[in-house]
Amino acid sequence: MAAISLRNIVKKYGDGFPAVNDVSIEIADGEFVILVGPSGCGKSTLLRMIVGLEDITSGDMVIGDRKVNDLAPRERNLAMVFQNYALYPHLSVYENIAFPLRLAGASDEEVDEKVRNASRTLELDEHLERKPGNLSGGQRQRVAMGRAIVRDADAFLFDEPLSNLDAKLRGQMRTEISRLQKRLGITTVYVTHDQTEAMTLGDRVAVLKRGLLQQLATPRELYENPGNLFVAGFIGSPPMNFLPAEVEGTRLTLPFGSVEIGEEKASRARDRGLLIAGIRPEHFEDAAIADKQGSESSFTATVEVVEWLGNETYAYIPFEAPEEVQQQLKQLEQDLDGESLRTQLVVTLDGASRISEGDEAEIWMDASRIHLFDPATGENLT
Ligand code: ATP
Repeated sequence: MAAISLRNIVKKYGDGFPAVNDVSIEIADGEFVILVGPSGCGKSTLLRMIVGLEDITSGDMVIGDRKVNDLAPRERNLAMVFQNYALYPHLSVYENIAFPLRLAGASDEEVDEKVRNASRTLELDEHLERKPGNLSGGQRQRVAMGRAIVRDADAFLFDEPLSNLDAKLRGQMRTEISRLQKRLGITTVYVTHDQTEAMTLGDRVAVLKRGLLQQLATPRELYENPGNLFVAGFIGSPPMNFLPAEVEGTRLTLPFGSVEIGEEKASRARDRGLLIAGIRPEHFEDAAIADKQGSESSFTATVEVVEWLGNETYAYIPFEAPEEVQQQLKQLEQDLDGESLRTQLVVTLDGASRISEGDEAEIWMDASRIHLFDPATGENLT
């Protein structure tokens, strides 16, 4: 096993815009790091540079204590698990797992011991004689991982390994990969565009946008303290609401009225004119249900649409945003790969809420969870 250092890594294809732009990430020995971002953000290019399938334009790639910039993939001792598993259809599970060992000239005895150990770990021991074509997607995935395990590689690299699986199997495999990685304690870099995989698998998550590292943090940190509008909009479902806002004194004025946010938060955003407030749908509640009627953090608004799901209720409240905010949100939409950001507030209420369409409803918000962003730079000021 080994630590992996990416130091000021740049990748340019031809003379176009850099696909990876000055990215530095220190991955600790045994750590599970996710590279995530919308299509074209450079995550696969970054992974391919780690494994050696792509040249580095500038910067240094260090694995363990070796600078590997100019080493061929096979000299790096890394194991890559691809989306399509790259299994040999004519070989049995046993021989597929044994393949890298045979290639390295291992004795039959060594091959047998390693293949049986790996297949026990992966619960594949009953399927060793079968061919990949007779396995489920999840089992094939495990064979691909088995092949990586027997090599005693310094690190595992995954490129969207679950994107071919159906939702249920994807969930199962996610748990399995997480369990295995913890058990083996092997340094792992995992590329995905799926934020659920990013949030549940990674010790830390690197969020990328157009080749630039936006934030590298634990999943909790990304959710609770997103560094900018992009990260805030990318992590969370339904996505964070973005609203025009202004701070006066210790109050935040929103399109629906004003709420108390306290001196600490207000002091970081005061006298800056128009801001973008970010509040997650789950940080609102029906004031009646939360016992917060008349509270300083409650406001009244007209609810246009209500969707009742049983355990929770989504309520939609339209609002107007000034041109400046709309511009920033349009840009953000593009950055988020065309995902549409609505000019309506979405709030997730308790399913017991009696609020219905057309109501002038009293909504409470958890003011401690409000983020305030600079509309020009997108930076999180709070
Ligand atoms: P996806 O999720 O769609 O695979 P990604 O985040 O993995 O996207 P990359 O595949 O790393 O993104 O691509 C990053 C940028 O580099 C994109 O703009 C892409 O068009 C460009 N790019 C990737 N490979 C090449 C190549 N071989 N030649 C030229 N440009 C490339």
